[in-house]
Formats: sequence, structure tokens, C-alpha cells
Amino acid sequence: MEERNQLVETSRRLVSDGINRGTSGNVSLRFGQGFLITPSGIEPNRMSADDICLLDKAGNLIEGQKPSSEWRMHRDVYLARPDIHAMVHTHSTFATTIACMEQDVPPFHYMIAVTGGNTIPCAPYALFGSQELSDAAVTALGKGYACLLAHHGMLAAGYTLDHALAVTVEAESLCEQYWRLLQTGKVPLLNDAQMAAVHDRFKDYFKR
Ligand SMILES: [Zn+2]
Repeated sequence: MEERNQLVETSRRLVSDGINRGTSGNVSLRFGQGFLITPSGIEPNRMSADDICLLDKAGNLIEGQKPSSEWRMHRDVYLARPDIHAMVHTHSTFATTIACMEQDVPPFHYMIAVTGGNTIPCAPYALFGSQELSDAAVTALGKGYACLLAHHGMLAAGYTLDHALAVTVEAESLCEQYWRLLQTGKVPLLNDAQMAAVHDRFKDYFKR
């Protein structure tokens, strides 16, 4: 029950923080051999712990009514990344804007390192809820903690729900800054050595 309440709380926080609107986006948490995920089509302020769905690692519905249509993407990241225990998917405005430009976010700011690499990669477009989208997301995420989904939104992953939420907020903020920079027509970037020094300093930034 505690984990289900955490998912409801996180979903509400994404709305109150202006990251998500309406019923878009979803949140999940690794649970036993499977995972818990928010339901399809229920606004976070109307959502209760009983609405949270439990799926096994094959994607079979164990408890709940109708899981988020993006359950495949969550399942496949959990299968591919044993270090990941929570995920947040959003259609947040600025991440989605950059995703609609089919662009990676380059290292214009040192905080890009928080997302795991030197860029926030953008996965190619695929139909929402499809296996093709899930495969593209797993590939784009790689060993990192965030990726954009072309013409769709963003996926953030973490070793805890707090970590996944922190990455989501930071990635959205970086996308907003990048979008503003694009208006100037000039985006100076940090080089690999400068980013390597940041990664080194960030080893303990998010405590496990
Ligand atoms: Zn979506």
C-alpha cells in the first residue's frame, strides 16, 4: 500500500509542479518480480491507491483495471536495467518541445551530467504504447537516466522514485534553458574534458 500511495503522490506532484497536465504521463515502481504503474485515463487528483496496477515482468495484469498504455516502455527498461527501480514519463512542455524538434539536448550546461551522459538523447518517433516505441526508448536511455521521445515527451528513470522525479524536474528545466538558448541562434557547448570533470564530481550527487 505504501508504494501505491507513493505513486499517487508522485503523480499529483507532477501536476502541482506544472510538469504534467490532465491524464498525460505515468509513473511506475519496481515491485517484486514485476512493477506497479499508474492507471490509464485517471487524473492524478481523482486517483487512489486502489487504481494503481500491478503487472508481472511479462506484462500480465495481476491487479488493477487498466494500466497506462506505456506499460511496455516501463517493463522493458526494468528488464534491461537492473539498477533502475522507478520511472516517470511526462509530456512536460519544454522536454516535449525539444522532442518535437527531434533533437538531442547537448552539453550546454554542466547539469546535463545529472541525466547520466553528455547529452539527453532523443529516441526516434514511434506510435505511443507500441513495442517499437519501447525499443527506441530503451536504446536511447542506454545507461543514462533520461531520454526524449520524438514528437511525444520524456522518460526519466532512477534508482528510487525521488531520484526519477529529481531527474524529471532537472531535465525539464534543462530543456527550457536549451529552448531559450536556441532563440539566440548560438549554443556554446562544454567539451568532453569539462563534462568528464563534472561526472567525476557528481559520482555521489544522488545518494543511493
Ligand atoms: Zn506519453
